[in-house]
Amino acid sequence: MQILKFGGTSVGSAGRIASVAALATRERGNIVVLSAMSGTTNSLVEISEYLYKGNVPGAQETLNALETKYRAVVDELFCGDSTAFARLEPSFRLIRAFFCEPFGESAEKEILAQGELMSTALMQECMSRRGIAVGMLPALDYMRTLDNGEPDMAHIGTRLRRLLADNPGCDVYLTQGYICRNSHGGIDNLKRGGSDYTASLIGAVTDADEIQIWTDIDGMHNNDPRFVPDTAPVHELHFEEAAELAYFGAKILHPSCVLPAKLHNIPVRLLNTMEPQAKGTLIFNAPPTGRIKAVAAKDNITAIKIKSGRMLLAYGFLHKVFETFENHRTAIDMMATSEVGVSVTVDNDARLEAIVDDLKEFATVTVDRDMVIIAVVGDLEWHNRGFETAVLGALSDIPVRMVSYGGSDYNISVLVRSCDKVKALKALSQHLFSNQEGA
Ligand code: ADP
Ligand code: ASP
Ligand code: MG
Repeated sequence: MQILKFGGTSVGSAGRIASVAALATRERGNIVVLSAMSGTTNSLVEISEYLYKGNVPGAQETLNALETKYRAVVDELFCGDSTAFARLEPSFRLIRAFFCEPFGESAEKEILAQGELMSTALMQECMSRRGIAVGMLPALDYMRTLDNGEPDMAHIGTRLRRLLADNPGCDVYLTQGYICRNSHGGIDNLKRGGSDYTASLIGAVTDADEIQIWTDIDGMHNNDPRFVPDTAPVHELHFEEAAELAYFGAKILHPSCVLPAKLHNIPVRLLNTMEPQAKGTLIFNAPPTGRIKAVAAKDNITAIKIKSGRMLLAYGFLHKVFETFENHRTAIDMMATSEVGVSVTVDNDARLEAIVDDLKEFATVTVDRDMVIIAVVGDLEWHNRGFETAVLGALSDIPVRMVSYGGSDYNISVLVRSCDKVKALKALSQHLFSNQEGA
């Protein structure tokens, strides 16, 4: 069995939904995971923001525009047969019901869930009308997280296997990405971009042969195509390389998506819905290549330099630093140490003021905001010579605030100012990949 996940652009119009209906049923018996149509989750977030602010007309206007868009899609997909819109009416009715009630987090989560529910309703209607036997696997009946936010793998596996056994022999099984229930049974989600994670969790609990992430580009490119021209697809990546790239900003993959696949040793293939014959990227236990594969950038980073006058030969300093971050439940991304101090980065600055206050009790503290981590990823085992020189050489015209190398065999990270991000990404592509064919 294969798990095929189609992202927002892949189901973003009537034409695309029709192509996915055909593409996803080329082989029988696979599980298809759908995202909301592109732009939908953003609209639902906007509606919730209006409702939090008590601006009901703002929410109404946004929802009306969304409804107009869906009516046009239904019209085109079902050749003017607007009765199919009845499949989406429960979602619009549910959202409108929240307009006259006090608004809170659980209402927001229910609203955000409607995008994926509408995608699968449309796809089920489209496939059924083409004579395809569709088995529905409602995500809210099996996808669940624990108190700590981690997936409840035992529950997911048991419930999903039961749903599959109750619907034997279907041409295709259809489910929603992104949405789940929390440990109290309330509707929740796996965070923005989380449909990739859904696909990977399903792959893990069903021991799938392959997890396919179908999107709007032909695989993981060697640099961020939104900022760098002439990027090229990387055809093979090790699980660890893919995880580093996803974590450090390669938006094509949700950062949590790689781990379940890696643990169960299930290959993940990134494919392009608009160009299904393109090779894409295969993520697996790839053999070492001794090569740099790709570059990614993570935005909104804050660097904190923590200097102790008494660090020389002192022990316990790093412990106090880490304990401070732990007390404020804030994860550290990158770190550089010297005999007199340590620099760390965080991407979550919600507790920054309190952290700095606590650190100042035993150290001198400097904060630099608006920074970016640039991660250079590949088979960077330290015996492979020349990688650090190549990376830093490429950045010789750019002020570098921190460098981190040796923490992983797959990553060299540098910290630069946000205003230097695009220049740094371009310089790295120019120096590292300009003579390289697709890897
Ligand atoms: P989907 O809606 O299918 O989940 P996403 O928008 O989440 O798609 O991810 C695909 C996008 O990721 C691409 O259109 C591309 O702009 C962006 N992206 C960022 N970095 C990379 C990269 N290194 N390789 C490929 N795509 C990338
Ligand atoms: N629809 C959700 C989002 O836009 C989940 C996803 O697309 O993966 O974040
Ligand atoms: Mg995505």
